[in-house]
Amino acid sequence: MSVLPILIFPDARLRRKCAPVKEVNSSVRRLADDMIETMYAAPGIGLAAPQVGKLIRLFVMDRTEGEEDDPVSEVLINPEVISVSDETVTREEGCLSLPGHFEDITRPAGVRVKYTGLDECEHVQTLEGVQAVCVQHEIDHLNGKLFIDHLSLVKRSIISRKMRKQKKELLKNEKSGNV
Ligand code: ZN
Repeated sequence: MSVLPILIFPDARLRRKCAPVKEVNSSVRRLADDMIETMYAAPGIGLAAPQVGKLIRLFVMDRTEGEEDDPVSEVLINPEVISVSDETVTREEGCLSLPGHFEDITRPAGVRVKYTGLDECEHVQTLEGVQAVCVQHEIDHLNGKLFIDHLSLVKRSIISRKMRKQKKELLKNEKSGNV
């Protein structure tokens, strides 16, 4: 397993609609393994394939319950939201592709999701709490949508401007060997 570089906003690949995974083959399994390692190294609780430059409908998420357990992760392939709750919840969200930015986002509190697992079987799960938020955030990624798209235009443009500056600095440091 290896840690993959995470794309930083703005990047055109974060804005593309991803293609369905046709077959759960060895390269998909290897990518999923690497993405799990990348997610925990970041650290994060979810990571979508486009964030590592792979434009396919797959994401990984942390499913650990409780503090002391070994991390439990799950791979969701071709996920689809079947239904959402009427009840909404507002939670602070961040994104590994927009480091340092956290905003309150309102979404449905519960979500029923259908997906293919690494076992190649179809699964249906109802999720609530932080995991429901995570699933919606990651499925957004597969459609080229980011959490800042749920904000007002003003807030979104402020963050976009800051991120462009942040990325420029990052690239400059990389070039001079500081990173
Ligand atoms: Zn994200």
